[in-house]
Amino acid sequence: MKVTVLGPWGGYPKVGEASAGYLVQSDGFNLLVDCGSGVLAQLQHYLSVEELNAVVISHYHPDHIADIGVLYHGRLIQSKIGKELPELPIYAPPHDKAEFKRLSHEPYTVAKPYKEDEELTIGPFTITFLKTKHPVTCFAMRITDEQTSMVFTADSSYMKEFEAFARDADLFICECNLYSHMDGTAMGHMNSTDAATIANSANVGTLMLTHLPHFGVLEELEDDAKKYFDGEVVLAKSGLTWER
Ligand SMILES: [Zn+2]
Ligand SMILES: [Zn+2]
Repeated sequence: MKVTVLGPWGGYPKVGEASAGYLVQSDGFNLLVDCGSGVLAQLQHYLSVEELNAVVISHYHPDHIADIGVLYHGRLIQSKIGKELPELPIYAPPHDKAEFKRLSHEPYTVAKPYKEDEELTIGPFTITFLKTKHPVTCFAMRITDEQTSMVFTADSSYMKEFEAFARDADLFICECNLYSHMDGTAMGHMNSTDAATIANSANVGTLMLTHLPHFGVLEELEDDAKKYFDGEVVLAKSGLTWER
């Protein structure tokens, strides 16, 4: 499994970069996890829009779905200039009917529902979901292929349930929108201590801090996390890859 960070920023992208987006690849299959602002531009450093096989969306905040419309345009334009493309499935929570419907631009993209209590198979990946604590309905995901597992918290404040959900994951991509002295409970976000505490209890391999804040000194997030977690800690960065 190879994971490439397309967008490490929370809320909105820094200049020339992107908000939430991760390319997850295995066995020649290209899965995009979240499609925030600027993700389509970043994606094209690695793949053309035609090469994408599926998309899965955690929730309907703009920093996670802003580029869905231009992804549709990309598929449409490439189809019109003669490339035969299958409909691109975009897996998403169906509870918000208007938002869910907006993902479909058939025959170029099509929204497909996932459910928290059902395992989803996409290409070589099996995906399970966990509802998070966030101002809008949002789902964390655990993605496994035959050898490797990664967990992405999406957006959430601290929840004890992440420990079981992330148990022994090789890679734990945890949102870390806040510094250790800040309490994210009301905002629906976590700080570096929250992230590392979960990583430690869940016994994950690598902790990747992401959904980064636009203020402060980012290295402090990493330094704080290392106090609570003995494994590898990395700060998400545009183009950073992880492979096992
Ligand atoms: Zn977000
Ligand atoms: Zn959000």
